[in-house]
Amino acid sequence: MKFSSWFKGIRLPRPPAAAPPVELPAPEVVYIPLRQHRGAQAQPTVEPGQPVQMGQVVGASEDFESTTVQATVSGTVKTIKDVSDPAGEPVPTVVIANDGADAWLDELAEAGAPFSEAAAVVKTRPTRLLKRIREAGLVRAEVQGRPLHVELTPPLAPQSYLYMTGIPVMRPIDTLIIKAVDNDPPVSPNLACLGMADSQLEIGISALARISGAERVVLALPAGADSAALMAMAAANEWETAQISQTHYPYTTVNLVVHSLTGREVPTPYGEPRDVGVVIEPLITARDVGQVLTSGRPVVERIFSVAGEVNRPQTFQVRLGTPIGEVLAAAGGPSEAGKVLVGGPMMGLAQFDPSAPVTRETEGVFVQSARNVEHFADQPCIHCGRCVAACPVNLLPSELGKLCEYQQFEDAAECDLLSCIECGCCAYVCPARRPMVHFLRHGKHEILAGRMES
Ligand code: SF4
Ligand code: SF4
Repeated sequence: MKFSSWFKGIRLPRPPAAAPPVELPAPEVVYIPLRQHRGAQAQPTVEPGQPVQMGQVVGASEDFESTTVQATVSGTVKTIKDVSDPAGEPVPTVVIANDGADAWLDELAEAGAPFSEAAAVVKTRPTRLLKRIREAGLVRAEVQGRPLHVELTPPLAPQSYLYMTGIPVMRPIDTLIIKAVDNDPPVSPNLACLGMADSQLEIGISALARISGAERVVLALPAGADSAALMAMAAANEWETAQISQTHYPYTTVNLVVHSLTGREVPTPYGEPRDVGVVIEPLITARDVGQVLTSGRPVVERIFSVAGEVNRPQTFQVRLGTPIGEVLAAAGGPSEAGKVLVGGPMMGLAQFDPSAPVTRETEGVFVQSARNVEHFADQPCIHCGRCVAACPVNLLPSELGKLCEYQQFEDAAECDLLSCIECGCCAYVCPARRPMVHFLRHGKHEILAGRMES
């Protein structure tokens, strides 16, 4: 795969300036899934009928690629049952009836402030900071995000070995990017937090730099938005800033931001930014890190955007576990019956269950009206080449689509299907309205399933 050095993808309208998040009262019932990230599911540590307090662990796992899960309200466990996750898969979920008292667990009520300034963070051992992040169960804020402690822990095995000598090569992290641009505007939780440049955020970014070992910190700011507060913070800390266009989709996504700011290509299909010496985290995740370190408590809220065809598009500060249907109601409800996507209009996943909760990995929802819901047709490709011109990673989507449609999965793998970032640009521009992303996702799934079996 080779990223384009000139603009491909598609052009989007500039998202409107986002107002600061509005705090939403905690709901009467919260749904706490025992898996809120990519990786292993936690096991419940509570039983139905048991009283719980805020911050109390309700699920835990020994697996490294998992996180502890805490109650986000005080109350009583009603039941443990399967509830739909953002990808529509059932996940065992602890359902808690809120008593309205917001009573923290005793030891957390006394927690105090272990870190009150960034200077203290940069003198603390990285392993100690990482331990706090793991205990708090932080997750990178994006659908199928990984537990943050997994992202920040150096790999156990070297990435490569020196030719002839066999000396292991471990690429050190030299750059930390804090991404204040959103993957899939107009769902814009990061944009809504641009003005919240407080000590909590400064501590969060300093901690991420300390843990990763990055000498260079870059704040990737949305071009055309008012980022004065973050620029002042960057100047005070000798961090760099860079402007990223919000209208060039999908150039605000992780791998493409890494490429545009460092010139390095994240290897595909299995690579990650760490492989090229970069750690990249959303602004709202850096805020979560700062909150954990300044309060000594787990994070119980999420910055969550509601956009699209709703009566009052808004970004909210929502208690984790709040049903998405209740957040939609707070935004005035859909203005027209249509489709709810967890994520944005290009990469979001359809959600049919209004009781599916806001989780650590969700950033927001986008509501499409019925007239805007794309109805794909089973038409043959007319070889117009528009998808090829749009693909930001220089694939041949038309060929890949046909290979997947006719189940030639290994041929598709040879044509680099696994490098597809599922941005949806090919489907967006296709005049034959072919369901390109469905074909490509299905093909990738079949290839990976086949490789797991062999
Ligand atoms: S979905 Fe995949 S093939 Fe289609 S444009 Fe995006 S990266 Fe290219
Ligand atoms: S845009 Fe659609 S019709 Fe045109 S080449 Fe690509 S798949 Fe075929």
